[in-house]
Amino acid sequence: MISKIQVLDPQSANQIAAGEVVERPVSVVKELVENSLDAGAKQIEITIEGNGVPLIRVRDDGSGISPEDLPQAVLRHATSKIRRIEDLNELQTLGFRGEALPSIASVSRMDITSRQTDSVLGMNLKLIGGERCELQEMGCPPGTTITVEDLFFNTPARRKFLKTQNTEFGLISDTLGRLALARPDVSFTLKHPKQVVFQTPGRGKLLESIGVIYGQKLARQLIPLSCSYKEWTLEGYISPPDLVRSTRQEEIFIVNGRIIRSKLLSRAISEGYHTLIPNRLFPIIVIQLTLPPHEYDVNVHPTKMEIRFQNEKALAQFISEQVRKTLLDSRPVAPFERLS
Ligand code: ADP
Ligand code: MG
Repeated sequence: MISKIQVLDPQSANQIAAGEVVERPVSVVKELVENSLDAGAKQIEITIEGNGVPLIRVRDDGSGISPEDLPQAVLRHATSKIRRIEDLNELQTLGFRGEALPSIASVSRMDITSRQTDSVLGMNLKLIGGERCELQEMGCPPGTTITVEDLFFNTPARRKFLKTQNTEFGLISDTLGRLALARPDVSFTLKHPKQVVFQTPGRGKLLESIGVIYGQKLARQLIPLSCSYKEWTLEGYISPPDLVRSTRQEEIFIVNGRIIRSKLLSRAISEGYHTLIPNRLFPIIVIQLTLPPHEYDVNVHPTKMEIRFQNEKALAQFISEQVRKTLLDSRPVAPFERLS
């Protein structure tokens, strides 16, 4: 009898995984840029055409991929970042699942050109729908350029679900803005397609990046926050109570260089601002939290945006107290207080 249970062929398995990792064009952009950051890039240039479906290109000046490794990079569960699960306890990189490149490749036409800094020649790999169709030597500058064209050409249902160009590009620009805020030491350039949408200087100054992403006027009004407790440090900028938004869109948490979403931290912020701003209004926050990697777990969701903190109560308390203290300390002195 023929067995009813069959292991999926790699192509189908990759496309199914792509359903989780590559929901829409912005997910491709995020994964490619995170790879560039993991490769130690100092300059990353992102070019988008239309809503991202026709073309997404990410160019970096990072470490590059060796000719031997290039075909491996697009294999499922192939990663240079961890060797075993315990390595997650000391994870220093954004990636670790080895799923992004094979997933993206399986639903697009992908072109990867890469050269390692100390190598004279670069390599180029072309894939269509995850099938390798060309591997050849190619002259190129050091670093990696990945071009993703015709996204979801072989998964029409996914493509149909996409929104207008404005919505999809808005999401891309928003996510890149957050990544740029997470890494002020890296210069990000976003082009759509020929025009520069923004460019951060990459000089390591968070306030400069905030100025580029949110505007200089807003940046000038923010209050700096900087403190530490044991092995935790908290750095960043928060808005005075009269500078608020109707959503949490501009509430940005960066944990060891990773942008995360966290109800816990959002609640801690609200507590810090409690009574200072009306309910249902939210401050503008860009804070970088640094803590030992073994104190949280990133292996919670395929998009790696959620993390679980070991010591969440103490952490939330630390953040809300520091936010409150910073706000109260920075309060302009009222005229009658000055007189007395
Ligand atoms: P992960 O990031 O989880 O390791 P990916 O599928 O995103 O998995 O990438 C696979 C591998 O390809 C990475 O581990 C890395 O070695 C290599 N790689 C991908 N993008 C780049 C890049 N821009 N520069 C250098 N190496 C890269
Ligand atoms: Mg990756």
